[in-house]
Amino acid sequence: MKRWSTLFPRLRMTADQQAAFLAMRTPTRTRLLLGSVIGVCAFYLACILLDILLLGDVTLLALSLRFGVVLPAALLLIAYVAGDHPIARKEHAALGVAILGNVCWCIILVSSHNPAVLGYFYAAASFQMVVTIAAASPFRPSLIASLVIFVLNYTAIWLLEGTSGMYVMQHLSVYLPTVGMTLLVTYQLESEAIANFLQSQENEVLKRELSRQNKDLARLSVTDPLTRLSNRRGTESELSRLRLEAPQAMENAVVLIIDVDHFKAFNDGYGHGAGDDCLKRVARAMRRALPLDAHLARQGGEEFLAILPGTDADKAGIAAEAVRRSVRQLGIAHEFTRDRNRHVTVSVGAAIGSILGDSDFQSLVDAADQAVYAAKADGRNGWRINERPTVAQDVA
Ligand code: GH3
Ligand code: MG
Ligand code: MG
Repeated sequence: MKRWSTLFPRLRMTADQQAAFLAMRTPTRTRLLLGSVIGVCAFYLACILLDILLLGDVTLLALSLRFGVVLPAALLLIAYVAGDHPIARKEHAALGVAILGNVCWCIILVSSHNPAVLGYFYAAASFQMVVTIAAASPFRPSLIASLVIFVLNYTAIWLLEGTSGMYVMQHLSVYLPTVGMTLLVTYQLESEAIANFLQSQENEVLKRELSRQNKDLARLSVTDPLTRLSNRRGTESELSRLRLEAPQAMENAVVLIIDVDHFKAFNDGYGHGAGDDCLKRVARAMRRALPLDAHLARQGGEEFLAILPGTDADKAGIAAEAVRRSVRQLGIAHEFTRDRNRHVTVSVGAAIGSILGDSDFQSLVDAADQAVYAAKADGRNGWRINERPTVAQDVA
């Protein structure tokens, strides 16, 4: 047999989700509650006209109960709902005033000797609607208030002028479907609100995950996977950043091109895996040797590029030498160099000038490239500055 709960499924929430759900719904619930309290109160007071027109014999009592008891309670309720109190308490207070209104209405009708009271008493169902729909309460308090109102009305019904068992049956046939439908509507509305809330939370989690993955992707797209240094795209974005943030330093910058010496022979001799490890160690050593604000990237293969913003010719030589020395000091054996050097080394070319524009940058790279060739031609494991050739610092 199917459990009734599977007919009306409701998603379960954790304690944290319940707290977040409550916080999210509080402003809407407060607004709805205030609106419905004012609207229902005005309607309730206007019903004095029905008391006068339909009954006529309890006008004084109706006036004093509606305006002397329910109106002050409703005014206090409005002030309470507009104040800074927990929403659940406000809703409970509203249900309490609705029940008070129902009690007063029952007293008015029970006190009347007019036979029209039986027809008028069908309006009892409207109190039912108020505590479920108009008060916009969550399901559980609505259910309890409904039961209270049900007991109240079906106690009063036996005291009405001209009531009978048949009348009570007829009344129930109208009242019970109203109770059932209004409770079902409240339950469904709350279930849908919970489902929407959980869906929006899930969307939020997915959005955060997507944005994290986008950030990872953006980082990966500018990173060389082997050495973890920037790649060419990373250099482009670093240049754009520097041009925006430190344009003056870009007018006087140094570009270094660094190429590992005899690296093909190293690969051929020790294998590609050893070559990869060597590149990683070389990259780490150079990163440590350069100033923190220098940008170091892998251009491709065994060639690297460094940008040192705001650096003059003297410092260019110091940086190039620091890079060269750091790699040599790793002491990675390389017995296939076919020259007197027996270790992994680099040749460095430097160029100095403005890199404010893309073409400036490209000409500095070309100049540094030429300087690398000069360093290679001069026996490798050395550095050159373009247009101011320096004697290679050979420490093989
Ligand atoms: P030179 O001293 O004149 O620079 O000689 P070289 O052998 O270093 O230069 P060449 O351009 O002839 O060879 C570069 C080699 O770098 C070729 C290739 O096997 C190797 N290489 C390029 N990329 C990678 C890589 O990602 N991993 C490894 N292990 N080797 C690479
Ligand atoms: Mg090389
Ligand atoms: Mg090369």
